[in-house]
Amino acid sequence: MSKTNPKVGFVSLGCPKALVDSERILTQLRVEGYNIVPSYDSADVVVVNTCGFIESAVAESLDAIGEAMNENGKVIVTGCLGKKSEMIREHYPNVLSVSGPQDYTTVMEAVHAAIPPKHDPFIDLVPDYGIKLTPRHYAYLKISEGCNHRCSFCIIPSMRGDLMSRPVDEVLREAERLVKGGVRELLVVSQDTSAYGVDRKYAPGTWRGKEYATRMKALCEGLGELDAWTRLHYVYPYPHVDDVVPLMAEGKILPYLDIPFQHASPRILKLMKRPGAVDKTLERVLRWRQICPDITVRSTFIVGFPGETEAEFEDLLGFLKTAQLDRVGAFAYSPVEGATANALPDQLPEEVKQERLARFMEVQAEISAAKLEAKVGTVQQCLVDVIEDGIAVARSKADAPEIDGLVHIQNGEQAGLRVGQFVDVEITDCDEHDLFGDAIAAEEPTGPAFNLKVL
Ligand code: SF4
Repeated sequence: MSKTNPKVGFVSLGCPKALVDSERILTQLRVEGYNIVPSYDSADVVVVNTCGFIESAVAESLDAIGEAMNENGKVIVTGCLGKKSEMIREHYPNVLSVSGPQDYTTVMEAVHAAIPPKHDPFIDLVPDYGIKLTPRHYAYLKISEGCNHRCSFCIIPSMRGDLMSRPVDEVLREAERLVKGGVRELLVVSQDTSAYGVDRKYAPGTWRGKEYATRMKALCEGLGELDAWTRLHYVYPYPHVDDVVPLMAEGKILPYLDIPFQHASPRILKLMKRPGAVDKTLERVLRWRQICPDITVRSTFIVGFPGETEAEFEDLLGFLKTAQLDRVGAFAYSPVEGATANALPDQLPEEVKQERLARFMEVQAEISAAKLEAKVGTVQQCLVDVIEDGIAVARSKADAPEIDGLVHIQNGEQAGLRVGQFVDVEITDCDEHDLFGDAIAAEEPTGPAFNLKVL
């Protein structure tokens, strides 16, 4: 790499969808010959990819912009908070450019204006799977942008627009490139994975000589042809989710569904503007388990939504006890600027919300603990993420990176395990979140893993 290549610092905040945007911008920067540097001092310009989902994310994004302004002074802002450009300009009038999510063109134009590219095609090499911010062995695969729903607590559609799906062949080609580049696990992300392709009227595309519809099930069938785990995130609870469960039972994709139910009271779901057929949802969860007994169902819930009565909250606890979900995340409702739920009557006092959140977590903690305990004595296929102090830290099929538990393989180093390797682990113990065990058989090692360091 030439010493005179212009240098860009990069700060990436927010959810996996924002991370994919960061990866695209970083890839384009590298294609054009920019160096990505890990400090404000050495950067000619800094790009901050922001998040604007909830108040704390807005504050974190504004802090990150402020830090980059103080430490460097030449700052390009993009991402979800970029939709609120007046707010950013009010705090930091001297930022070079402000753009919204997926606006790669504006970011690149601002970088060009600040520091022109200096590309040397002989030495500026970019792997053909692009620049990734995740470890080499797993990658987020973004299949669509935006959302056609209008959940009353959410402002994502106003920031990211209506659903826009990527053609199925394009997604499958990207997945294939990633797997060739060493990725062992593909994490399918979007705002609403089950709606994939609706906007394209499920138009077919050709991949490896075969036709696939731009539709969740067909996409899963294609991904199932690759030699990697496929994990589905953000699946909206529609009836046609049932169609992908047999693919899980056949081992084509991971038996894992991240499906945000948000609540279990039909009235609250209606106020949230989400589907409200709770009995059918329960029936479906139970049926999925019959078709695919190993399925892990992860969900998120909001407690203390405006107008939630004690009886409706009790209904939610009842749902948890019956559904016996494997993994659950919960939030006390907090208003998001611009969301229609802010105008609902009967907003609950903070103490009530927090008290309900604590009760909710207590009920779920018991369920999750029993689920983990039931795994002691079983053998689980795991993917190694890190080797630390002789122990290999891995994840089983039931564990998505960052949000679920870990499997600590006590004899990891002794067994010669490497990052990005699949290994069968005999589970010997558990705590509240994680499993512990010993490697009993591992596949042939693959190449070394790496992390791209960002600021
Ligand atoms: S489905 Fe998700 S992204 Fe779409 S409006 Fe509802 S919460 Fe927001």
